[in-house]
Amino acid sequence: MAFELPKLPYAPDALIPHISVETIEYHYGKHHQAYVNNLNALIPGTDFEKADLETIIRKAEGPIFNNGAQVWNHTFYFEGFSKTGKRTPDGTMANAIRDSFGSFDAFREQFTKSAAGLFGSGWAWLVKKEDGSLAIVQESNAGNPLRKGLKPILTCDVWEHAYYIDYRNRRPDYIKSFWEIIDWDIIASRY
Ligand code: MN
Repeated sequence: MAFELPKLPYAPDALIPHISVETIEYHYGKHHQAYVNNLNALIPGTDFEKADLETIIRKAEGPIFNNGAQVWNHTFYFEGFSKTGKRTPDGTMANAIRDSFGSFDAFREQFTKSAAGLFGSGWAWLVKKEDGSLAIVQESNAGNPLRKGLKPILTCDVWEHAYYIDYRNRRPDYIKSFWEIIDWDIIASRY
């Protein structure tokens, strides 16, 4: 069965002024779609013909890994946003962040630094470790923490295609806006 591009849970203009319709058209409509199409073209006749995306992320190498992980990463990224939602965590999620980073502000500062400082293309992740604590990890290119046995909670795409239409080379401005569209009810449901 072929993989499909999941529908966005909001309208293309829902994230304005932080993410434009044009960015959604390119980032979701063209880049995300291309990873889906590439993956579907790559897997026939391989061990991954009937595998789910998480198996592909854990076991595949090369182009199948790259495209499979990019499909998963983008879905996870886009599904973390909403037009109107909880912009700061509360309850169990807030407590877990406080336990691991000291405060929400300290977490946000550390995550921002990690996303801004990632060299080249990749993803900044908030992950849950086996002991239940949280950590921030950087992954280059299509990297996904599932491969290291870590549970993804939140991700920020720092490939230039994520921000170049709206922010040109200003990655820090894009990351500043990223915090304005995160829906912490969705993020908390992953914890
Ligand atoms: Mn991307």
